[in-house]
Amino acid sequence: MDRPATDVIPLGTDPLTVRSEAGWYWNVVSEYSKRICYNIFMLIDTHCHLHDPEWFTKDEQHEFLQKAHENNVEKMICIGTNHEDSLVARDFAQKHTNVYWTYGIHPEFATGTTTNLMGTEADHYAFLETIRSATSEGEAASARNDGPEERRVSKKYSGQQWLASDKLCAIGEIGLDYHYDGYDRLAQIKLFEQMLQLALDYNLPVSLHLREAFDDAFAVLDNFPQTRGVVHSFTGSKRDLKQALARDFYIGVNGLATYTTPALPPLERIVLETDAPFLTPAPYRNEKNGPQFIKNIAEYLAEKFQTPLEEVAKITTQNAERIFKI
Ligand SMILES: [Zn+2]
Repeated sequence: MDRPATDVIPLGTDPLTVRSEAGWYWNVVSEYSKRICYNIFMLIDTHCHLHDPEWFTKDEQHEFLQKAHENNVEKMICIGTNHEDSLVARDFAQKHTNVYWTYGIHPEFATGTTTNLMGTEADHYAFLETIRSATSEGEAASARNDGPEERRVSKKYSGQQWLASDKLCAIGEIGLDYHYDGYDRLAQIKLFEQMLQLALDYNLPVSLHLREAFDDAFAVLDNFPQTRGVVHSFTGSKRDLKQALARDFYIGVNGLATYTTPALPPLERIVLETDAPFLTPAPYRNEKNGPQFIKNIAEYLAEKFQTPLEEVAKITTQNAERIFKI
């Protein structure tokens, strides 16, 4: 976190982000005809860090995007873990079709100096203003309420600014993590509340990172009852799972499930994720994780639920598309 603060770049200034409307229609038509005519299933990685140059070289990013495509993983969400990393996720998403991004500050970065980790405080507010101006007054909320088709083809949202903001699909990863003693719990709770408010302000779902802190997290969430989204990499007890489901959250299942025995909800409440580069599923645990391994997690669940792989793909993909509007 010694990285220099990045200047806030206006959304959508990268020429590679310009996608024509005709191109978008072509993608949709070919995707759906593939699914209907050949019964080819589609998978989504709802939580990965493929954008992060600390973990992936440019060559690996390209290789893994290609491998993901070869393994039916047609959409992925790159998750931000702090202010600067979120901007890297944004730029990566803007360069690649069907890659989305989130803005978030992970609880491990919550300390007395939290604002430094968001860039300067001024950067942070400038960034929020950038999102606000990209969607303009009143459009932010209605944009998120429309379905993906309505959002994308609407003339109202055409232009670079809209293309850029439409790939921001959630606030995350945010939450509480009490695993290590040195973490400042009060600072985490304060940051978590700020991030939950941000999600509500922009009518976005959340990607939650909760570890050994479920009771406190649920107490905080009860003050933000409209919050919706996913508990990523769920590691809680059956009781915690029940509490999460009662609050209408979906559960992110990743490679951990293939070598531990976490409590699992029904498929109707599951989304798939890799958390790449971490948590590679068995039996590939000595390899670097990437979105291509989503298929192995889907195969694991097919076996576990005694359901065809296509059914696991269909349900989890629908869940992800519905929650994140992607
Ligand atoms: Zn993560």
